[in-house]
Amino acid sequence: MSAHFETLAIHAGNDPEPTTGAVSVPIFQTSTYAQRGPGDHTGFEYSRTRNPTRDALEQNLAALEGAKYGLCFSSGCGATDAIMHALSSGDHVVSGDDVYGGTFRIFDKVYRRHGLDFTFVPAADIEAYKKAIRPNTKLVWLETPTNPMLSIVDIAQVVELAHKAGAAVVVDNTFATPYLQRPLSLGADIVVHSVTKYLGGHSDVVGGAILTSDDEWKQRLAFLQNAVGAVPGPMDCFLTLRGTKTLAVRMDRHADNAEAIVEMLIRHPKVSKVYYPGLESHPNYAVAKKQMKRPGGMISFVIKGGLEASRRLLSGMKVFTLAESLGGVESLIEHPAIMTHASIPKELREARGIDDGLVRISAGIEHVDDLKGDLLAALDRA
Ligand SMILES: *Cc1c(COP(=O)(O)O)cnc(C)c1O
Repeated sequence: MSAHFETLAIHAGNDPEPTTGAVSVPIFQTSTYAQRGPGDHTGFEYSRTRNPTRDALEQNLAALEGAKYGLCFSSGCGATDAIMHALSSGDHVVSGDDVYGGTFRIFDKVYRRHGLDFTFVPAADIEAYKKAIRPNTKLVWLETPTNPMLSIVDIAQVVELAHKAGAAVVVDNTFATPYLQRPLSLGADIVVHSVTKYLGGHSDVVGGAILTSDDEWKQRLAFLQNAVGAVPGPMDCFLTLRGTKTLAVRMDRHADNAEAIVEMLIRHPKVSKVYYPGLESHPNYAVAKKQMKRPGGMISFVIKGGLEASRRLLSGMKVFTLAESLGGVESLIEHPAIMTHASIPKELREARGIDDGLVRISAGIEHVDDLKGDLLAALDRA
């Protein structure tokens, strides 16, 4: 179906169910399917391989990313693992250094042991990717905006130099979502998502997805989805499908609220730095403007007074919830050095700008005045 994003979000994959006309895709809570005779089946044989609720979600997400194919997984890490499983011992991967901690952990602690080699480069430094690519580089792995520094990687530029060297480009599009950024249209080969975040959008499901228009990658990854088996259950697919229907309206509100919060933070005397790709002072502002529809709902900022001040700030928030994760309707706030990024050694954290006073916000869709009020009270306490 070709239609606008908002329309695809509601209708792609969501045809009325043929037996009853049910408008909402049913939760096909079944592991197996009756066959009329041996091998004479409806296309569904066993739910690790295929399930109708999962089919609907795969079609929906593919439409949103402008992909031919969608494959869903039980988590974002499960999706990442499937891509890495497609490589072989001796292959080399170039990755941005500011990727999701769990992604770094799979690369460094799981696949290095299986003979893959990794080079991590400063995420927004195009020259560094060029230098790091070798004859055996099979993949270049990007995450943009990055977490928690919100650097922006120029996808089209990395694609150009990776393709010249015969390497495929994977973009983790979790932070932007296809509403704000469509990596396949910029030449990327594969998009990966943690649907746990904005796509699900309600902090009630863990899931992952891979989207691609490349027939060969689709064959390899669909084989691995079935062979390795990190598939989501039908209930989780149903919840994610329900989430994507409102993705466009949610993302606009997330971005509206984030922009208003940033306006407040940059003027506040206790804040020494604000990282947000919508600020003209952001080093990658021009790239963000070129490849993203809006700068999104994530903000990082540094509070003067380091660890002690950030502890006071974060204790006793009333509207914001102090929690890891992001992308849900409720606003979350967290301290990367103590929480999400604690596994990175202190020197490395500091080299990447993850200061002890750094605080990360996932702006939810509550009334913006309540969010600003809660933050102002917290800044007073700090
Ligand atoms: C959360 C996250 C992941 C991992 O996804 P899970 O669903 O938690 O396994 C990968 N990439 C990014 C950018 C994330 O935020």
